[in-house]
Amino acid sequence: MKTTFPFDNSFAQLGTGFFSYQMPEPSPTPELIAYNESLGSELGIDAGDDRAAIFGGALIPDGAEPLAQLYAGHQFGNYNPQLGDGRAVLLGEVVDINGNRRDIQLKGSGRTPYSRSGDGKAWLGPVLREYVVSEAMHALAIPTTRALAAVRTGEDIYREAILPGAIVTRVAASHIRVGTFQVFAARQQIDKLQELCDYTLARHYQHANGPEGLLQAAMDAQAKLIPAWMGVGFIHGVMNTDNCQIAGETIDYGPCAFMDAFASDRVFSSIDRMARYSYANQPDIAIWNMAQLATSLVPLMPDAEAAVERFTTMLHKMKDHLRAEWLAVFAEKLGISQPYIEDGTLIADLLDLMERCGSDFTNTFAALNHGSAIDEVTDRVAYNAWHHRWSNRIKDENDPKALMARRNPVIIPRNHRIEQMITAAVEGDFAPFHRLNAALQTPFEDCEGFDDLKRPPSTEEIVPATFCGT
Ligand code: AMP
Ligand code: MG
Repeated sequence: MKTTFPFDNSFAQLGTGFFSYQMPEPSPTPELIAYNESLGSELGIDAGDDRAAIFGGALIPDGAEPLAQLYAGHQFGNYNPQLGDGRAVLLGEVVDINGNRRDIQLKGSGRTPYSRSGDGKAWLGPVLREYVVSEAMHALAIPTTRALAAVRTGEDIYREAILPGAIVTRVAASHIRVGTFQVFAARQQIDKLQELCDYTLARHYQHANGPEGLLQAAMDAQAKLIPAWMGVGFIHGVMNTDNCQIAGETIDYGPCAFMDAFASDRVFSSIDRMARYSYANQPDIAIWNMAQLATSLVPLMPDAEAAVERFTTMLHKMKDHLRAEWLAVFAEKLGISQPYIEDGTLIADLLDLMERCGSDFTNTFAALNHGSAIDEVTDRVAYNAWHHRWSNRIKDENDPKALMARRNPVIIPRNHRIEQMITAAVEGDFAPFHRLNAALQTPFEDCEGFDDLKRPPSTEEIVPATFCGT
């Protein structure tokens, strides 16, 4: 049986200048590692036995119009005038069963006009990491791109070693990034910029009006997203403007990681030498990225000077918005449904204490929900004093434990488990991948048999840094 997709492509209608038509490079011997059945059904895909070929780029399904998108971006603060999909092709779009338009994209499917010196390929490690972590984020109720399939291509990939090639199929609300606006603004292609703005508003923010409405909507989405990351100890690792999606989903799982022991200045990415994208810097970086979007939108405004003034005010307000969302996220983790400003101190004091004691982020909050975190927060005197304040604060809450149970995961994709899963997969054993994936579907449930996934790494297991997938 043939796999069928209800393709309904709109980005391809934008015409020249926004993308290049590009066929994926066929995998020599595609083998399906995983296919996300429930996501497939949500997208209206009728799955057949040709999925390995399709998601391995060897067979183009009916209705697909494969293309690579153009974009630019600031990478670690430096503007790169031309990036684009260098190792990805958009097969097309579908309107899912909930009426939402979604992109279906192969990532790791070979060179495109935007590949620069890269080979356009991906190896198994980053593909499996993206699959596991993006699906875990979804289960944690955090806006994210999804993983529909993972395929082994049968090809050797040359990195620091010879590694097995793979392709991940990514599903996104769209792949429009801050960098998509930047490229047309920098080139002063105002007609294209206007067309992109109109398209993005129609696709993502129908209630919003004009460039200012778009900017506000994108800011609001980021102001929700980043505190949600922080609430689970997530560090994105490469918050470049080309990895900042306008619709507000987490996108581009490269050197990302979840923290074990809490440290506000934690960095994982081996290439982030200045700690630009550390855990606690993420809100400021989101504002910085929105400032780049604002700059790109100024040419669409009737009065540039007034627009700059207006957008600057909006950026200042975004800081307050981020702070309010952060407060809401962490208050709920402590069972507080309607936080007061002063609750910020209660939260900050706990986090300081955790940092000083090297407490495991996830397990501390989970332990608070189940009684006491004294084993995690080892300064007994300070912990007891804090606990007393906290108990007082939540005594009038309706059902704080139930709220906490919905906000404090028990299982997260710990970095050392991801690395162990990748090592096993490279040796041909995919059981740890499937097990990890299964466990992370219900991260708030304390299921039997997953104790090993709850434990922080032993000294030997610690993975100090993650590497880019390129
Ligand atoms: P990233 O940091 O993964 O978001 O990638 C930044 C840019 O580099 C994007 O334009 C990618 O398409 C491109 N890129 C990353 N890896 C490769 C590769 N192996 N081959 C070609 N282009 C790549
Ligand atoms: Mg990227």
